[in-house]
Amino acid sequence: MFDFQENVPLKNYTSLKIGGPAEFFYQPTNIEQLKTAIVWAKLHSHKITLLGGGTNTLVSDEGVKGLVICMRKFAGIESKLENENLRITALAGTPKSLLLKEFLKYKLAPAEFLAGLPGDVAGGVVMNAGIGEVTIRPREFCEIVDWVEVLRDGQLVVLQKKDLEFTYRKSKGWQPGIITRAGFTWPNLEDVQVVERVKNLNRARLTKQPLELPNAGSVFINPPGYKSGKLIEECGLKGYRIGDAMISEKHANFIVNVGHAKATDVLQLIKHTQDTVLEMKGVSLHPEWILLGF
Ligand SMILES: Cc1cc2nc3c(=O)[nH]c(=O)nc-3n(C[C@H](O)[C@H](O)[C@H](O)COP(=O)(O)OP(=O)(O)OC[C@H]3O[C@@H](n4cnc5c(N)ncnc54)[C@H](O)[C@@H]3O)c2cc1C
Repeated sequence: MFDFQENVPLKNYTSLKIGGPAEFFYQPTNIEQLKTAIVWAKLHSHKITLLGGGTNTLVSDEGVKGLVICMRKFAGIESKLENENLRITALAGTPKSLLLKEFLKYKLAPAEFLAGLPGDVAGGVVMNAGIGEVTIRPREFCEIVDWVEVLRDGQLVVLQKKDLEFTYRKSKGWQPGIITRAGFTWPNLEDVQVVERVKNLNRARLTKQPLELPNAGSVFINPPGYKSGKLIEECGLKGYRIGDAMISEKHANFIVNVGHAKATDVLQLIKHTQDTVLEMKGVSLHPEWILLGF
């Protein structure tokens, strides 16, 4: 037996502040608890859904059936210098901000793209999180991840970077399974400018992104050769609203929750945006977000 909760509102666990209840909800703090939860779910034929920081997910108004495992308490990080490299090991639910701090301690380049990136380490691996600025290197998780540990069929398996099949805002080689830890390596080449650049990048996010309102980051991936935000803005959709879901006035590739938006409002707004951009610009937009419970 383990200490799960029932009917837990997932809006409290997503950055959009939207989503109905998890039928069963559990936050493991260690591998034994995680294994116990999986065995219990399998025994009762419950589907398992993983949640990290919930910063890239839209949860259905009806919630999620089965067991939702939230990994936020499965956190911890350590680093060491080895053969002129910084090696970091982080548990899946470690906030990316702590990963940033480790790189920043040594004034290393990966701190830059991690500046202001929300969510957990495992979510970063799953989504191959990163930034678009081509002048910044590294700028995606796939450039700093060395290995990933996955709980698969009750066993811990270590996969190397080459096995993870990273593409733009996606990775899939870790499936099936649950990411439990990740290892990162970067040459220990101190750059004193990094601290100032991290400050500037944080400031830029505050100016450009609607961080004052609940959101889940960029809604659409950038189609090759285009910027989704620019396309949406050029179609005059900034401020367009369905229910309490609105295309941000600040950044057109963000949908913000201006009150009590429902997932259905957001989905309608996504559809309206896709239809409008296709009609006016001839370009198909594809969502970056993960939909849970639909
Ligand atoms: C204000 C804001 C700004 C953002 N800016 C950026 C940006 O610049 N670049 C960018 O790439 N993204 C950005 N995002 C999106 C988001 O922060 C990233 O995609 C992030 O990496 C998601 O991490 P998470 O922990 O929140 O994942 P979640 O949203 O919780 O989950 C994402 C997916 O990972 C799965 N998952 C989570 N944990 C595990 C695990 N342990 N094992 C297996 N599967 C798991 C979930 O089931 C889900 O499918 C932004 C979001 C916000 C709100």
